Amino acid sequence: MECKLIRPADLDQALAAREEYTDDGLPIAGGQSLLVMMRNRLVSPGALIDLEPVEALRGIEVQSTGISIGAMNTCRQLIASPVLREEVGVLPAAARQVSSTAVRNLGTIGGNVCHNEPGADLPPVLLALNGQAVLRRRTHGREVPLDAFFTGYFETALEPDEILCRIDIEHPPANAAGVYLKHAISPEDLAIVGIAVVVVPDAQRPGAVAEARIGIGGAAPVPLRATRTEAALKGAVLDEKTARAAGEMASTEVDPGSDPHASAGYRRRMVTVFVRRALMQAAGRIEENGHGAA
Ligand SMILES: Cc1cc2nc3c(=O)[nH]c(=O)nc-3n(C[C@H](O)[C@H](O)[C@H](O)COP(=O)(O)OP(=O)(O)OC[C@H]3O[C@@H](n4cnc5c(N)ncnc54)[C@H](O)[C@@H]3O)c2cc1C
Repeated sequence: MECKLIRPADLDQALAAREEYTDDGLPIAGGQSLLVMMRNRLVSPGALIDLEPVEALRGIEVQSTGISIGAMNTCRQLIASPVLREEVGVLPAAARQVSSTAVRNLGTIGGNVCHNEPGADLPPVLLALNGQAVLRRRTHGREVPLDAFFTGYFETALEPDEILCRIDIEHPPANAAGVYLKHAISPEDLAIVGIAVVVVPDAQRPGAVAEARIGIGGAAPVPLRATRTEAALKGAVLDEKTARAAGEMASTEVDPGSDPHASAGYRRRMVTVFVRRALMQAAGRIEENGHGAA
């Protein structure tokens, strides 16, 4: 089938093209996942809407409420961003773990999130940072918290006439510690499990947790927040015993599948192990610095 390439000059043109080709058009960002899908004939779009020229999808802006990250930022740009490194180091740290230099140079945060491949590195971190997807269609826009954006296996809440414009994340408290741990067969592979934690220490009670957020990838059809474990950690003193119990509890919140890379049982077990490790690393960082710099 013939595939038309559309190069919009700006966001309005991109949204107009998205509306015109609602039935068989797809946006293309870095092309790292979409071109593989096309080559394997898993999708055959009649039109590709190239987001590369759309300036409005670029940039990383610091606002009073948080940080707004344009969908077309590549992993390389996340890694190089001074503001992300300073405020939310866990995000560039996760971007650094995405596959190879070539993939990081082209693959975008927007594409990573919209593709929603199990085992992708950015979704668990963005969940733990309370990320929101900022979506636009030609006539209006909407914001969707990421825990509602990921709806199923390779599925999201994105409608066929919408474009993901930005991901907004909150400023984490200055004393928060963020950690991302990826467990993969080789460093260039998708995660068997990817665990992101953001721990906010209780300033009044040394060692205690004011808030913990846990994002988990690779262990269910969608990346998810381990909300029951987060609730159990609130107010607890974060030591080895607590972290171990949290790992056990988190493993009951996931719903892994089996594939040639790992069985469901192994993935569940790795959630136990890596949630414990991530929490202990966060605790260590808080103890060392008096704060963690998420
Ligand atoms: C060899 C290889 C190894 C990889 N390893 C990893 C890994 O270890 N960890 C990891 O996290 N990822 C990995 N990936 C995936 C990689 O990070 C992809 O680049 C990313 O998932 C997709 O980003 P992209 O910009 O290339 O999106 P594209 O491939 O261009 O698009 C992907 C999908 O998202 C849609 N889309 C893209 N942008 C938007 C937007 N702004 N609005 C609406 N829809 C949009 C497209 O229509 C398409 O359906 C790997 C990919 C390859 C090829």
